[in-house]
Amino acid sequence: MEKRLFNFSSGPAVLPVPVLERIRDEMLCLPGCGASVMELSHRSKQFIAIQEAAKQRLIRLLNIPSDYDVLFLQGGARLQFSMIPMNLLRGQSGAAQYVLTGSWGKYAVGEAKKEGKTETIYDASASNYDHVPADLELKISPDASYVHITSNETIQGVQFQHDLTSAAPLVCDCSSDILHRPIDVSKYGLIYACAQKNAGPAGVTVVIIRKDLLARSSESLPGYLNFNNHAKEDSMWNTPPTFAVYVLGLVTEWVEKTIGGLDAMYKINQEKAKIVYDAIDRHPSIYLAHAQKASRSLMNATFRFPNEDLEKAFLAQAQSHGLDSLKGHRSVGGIRASIYNAMPMAGVQTLAQLMDDFASKNA
Ligand SMILES: *Cc1c(COP(=O)(O)O)cnc(C)c1O
Repeated sequence: MEKRLFNFSSGPAVLPVPVLERIRDEMLCLPGCGASVMELSHRSKQFIAIQEAAKQRLIRLLNIPSDYDVLFLQGGARLQFSMIPMNLLRGQSGAAQYVLTGSWGKYAVGEAKKEGKTETIYDASASNYDHVPADLELKISPDASYVHITSNETIQGVQFQHDLTSAAPLVCDCSSDILHRPIDVSKYGLIYACAQKNAGPAGVTVVIIRKDLLARSSESLPGYLNFNNHAKEDSMWNTPPTFAVYVLGLVTEWVEKTIGGLDAMYKINQEKAKIVYDAIDRHPSIYLAHAQKASRSLMNATFRFPNEDLEKAFLAQAQSHGLDSLKGHRSVGGIRASIYNAMPMAGVQTLAQLMDDFASKNA
């Protein structure tokens, strides 16, 4: 069998090996079903149990209060950029307020503008999105329809370090950091995350919505785009992405049973990120960190080199050490090491070792 690399891809991204092994073992025949999970009706009692178990694990892991619905949707986080203003902004008097700390937030407000009135209340683009604002800098209006933030900007590698408090319903794109630490769901009106960064494969997007917000959706919305249809039918309004939901269920089971929950996951993520950032900080003339220290992401570490030759040489050496997909997004350049929940400790240790060796040879 071919050797697995340490996969630093930003998404779709690394999955836990025990999850992949379980999928392999159950591929032809899900225990007790005589068929692959992909061959089961979404209305079969077996699949309903799989989807319900995935939902209950999310509820337990994130401590989701009972006045929230958990939906499994398709269309990725990008569809939520549109669906959220369609449901929560249409027909409302207050503007939707957006906090722009990176590329994804900028795309999100671009879609919301098509639907209604928006205000950008914070924009870090002048410093190429190298930080998140401190609480007090935010000018959240209690009359806003909602306030939108991106908890972790995947491309720039900047992350809010704690849950914000907001007078208006707080909407959060958690696509690249859901399940990386415990969060206080009660501080949010709506949380959404595509699965393929930190929670599973591409194809399913989790939406956690406070139930009172469902009253805002207009009957005139296309059926699929109305949150109420999915909430009423327990994400069975149409065929859910069954295979992706099954894998999401296995990943949440891994976080809960193998890792021991989100407190333990957070500790591991802090340790892993520290190994990478310490390596950056040991060699500040070679590794130029993109994010300001107080805003550094535990999920995506971004840094550049003083020149492009060094970057090329580093990437080539990384590849020869089995470190894959480290090239940064073109808007930031340099390196982006995506170190999601499933990245093994050995992956970041190998990376940090290479960074030390490379720096001493090129200093
Ligand atoms: C990847 C990503 C998206 C886009 O997700 P799609 O599933 O491709 O639509 C949106 N927001 C964030 C923060 C992301 O990391």
